Amino acid sequence: MLYYSTNKQTLRADFKEATIKGQAPDKGLYFPESIPQLPAGFIENIDLFSKEEIAFTAIQPFVGDTIPTEVLKKIVAETINFDFPLVQITDDIYSLELFHGPTLAFKDVGARFMSRCLGYFVQDINKQVTVLVATSGDTGGAVASGFYGVEGVNVVILYPSGKVSSVQELQLTTLGKNITAIEIDGNFDDCQQLVKQAFADEKLNEELFLTSANSINVARWLPQQFYYFYAFQQWTDKKNPPVICVPSGNFGNICAGMVAYLQGLPVKHFVAAVNANDSVYKYLQTGTYQSQQAVATLSNAMDVGNPSNFIRMMELFKHEYPAVKNAVSSFSITDAETKATLKDTFNRNSYLLDPHGAVAFAGLEKYLKQHPSDKGIILETAHPVKFYDVVEPVIEQPVERPASILGILNKKKESVRMNPEYQSFKEYLLS
Ligand SMILES: *Cc1c(COP(=O)(O)O)cnc(C)c1O
Repeated sequence: MLYYSTNKQTLRADFKEATIKGQAPDKGLYFPESIPQLPAGFIENIDLFSKEEIAFTAIQPFVGDTIPTEVLKKIVAETINFDFPLVQITDDIYSLELFHGPTLAFKDVGARFMSRCLGYFVQDINKQVTVLVATSGDTGGAVASGFYGVEGVNVVILYPSGKVSSVQELQLTTLGKNITAIEIDGNFDDCQQLVKQAFADEKLNEELFLTSANSINVARWLPQQFYYFYAFQQWTDKKNPPVICVPSGNFGNICAGMVAYLQGLPVKHFVAAVNANDSVYKYLQTGTYQSQQAVATLSNAMDVGNPSNFIRMMELFKHEYPAVKNAVSSFSITDAETKATLKDTFNRNSYLLDPHGAVAFAGLEKYLKQHPSDKGIILETAHPVKFYDVVEPVIEQPVERPASILGILNKKKESVRMNPEYQSFKEYLLS
């Protein structure tokens, strides 16, 4: 399998090169040359397969011969070594819980898969590899945990001091070993700027082998299709496939679902639930795409004004507006609706959503009102405890702390504090 750049250069890369580079040299996104088809009988017999077998079957064609079968099987097994339960909320709406991984958000899957692939690929590079990431919250923890203990790879995470939640900060700063957290006295843009400058610094790149763990990386993007297979495997009415509603920000997750669908996985329809950041919603209404400035909402992991994977969605449907419209609907949910949904599902259905899952639930409810004979699944992308500052005032009671969080709550934070000055950052990297 080869990948081309969405900027249409004739350049091709295999999975190894695309993973190491992250972004194509012409600044486009890597995209698979063709979408493979699932093996015959796979869907009919999906109940018989383990989740490791399903994941391996889905991802193998995209990896091609860049990773040997036995190694890839091990990587896949380590990637998904936690549960993905489908839980019923109402008569018509189910929740696929994607928050049972180490950092309690769905980004664990992509980060775990990518870190292990990169760890394999760098074995024949006789230099330490340094992964640089700027984070506004969730990504950093998933990447830190994913790369923890991976041989040959150092991870440097930059985060804005005082601007991530306390759980998120502990997930970044308490691991140690090959993970270093740099606490920047500035905002997320300052962090991102330092990382960009480091990648553009030729002198530095002669000294260090730098790479990024950006969410557009194919090795983070493609394993997200596993969720959709696990959703269908647990769906009892196989003859009437579910509508799947995805709380979307950068649109990586939903596009991975569309890859699964185009490979042959039954999905009735996709719903992209967004918050006030509604550029894709507007595109689906009007056929015209206009990027926006991001606005802050309660579902902050979806505060994206110009989703980078929008181009992949267009690519998947050959840039044909009617084809996109036929496959996906969108709803934009306000913060007031998000809170009301959180409260209602908690009180009526005894199910506690996080703010992102609440956006998805509200979006799916709106879709099902227009399509009353359908049933659907929301992807619940984070554990509510990660956003307890939003959730607790709404439900007027504390959110139960899961066991995996208790471990880090009494660990000591360790970070390197820095002003957002490139020179000090560079000196730190070289030291
Ligand atoms: C990142 C994130 C999203 C958005 O996912 P995209 O792939 O960027 O659309 C939704 N919910 C949570 C909790 C996230 O961390």
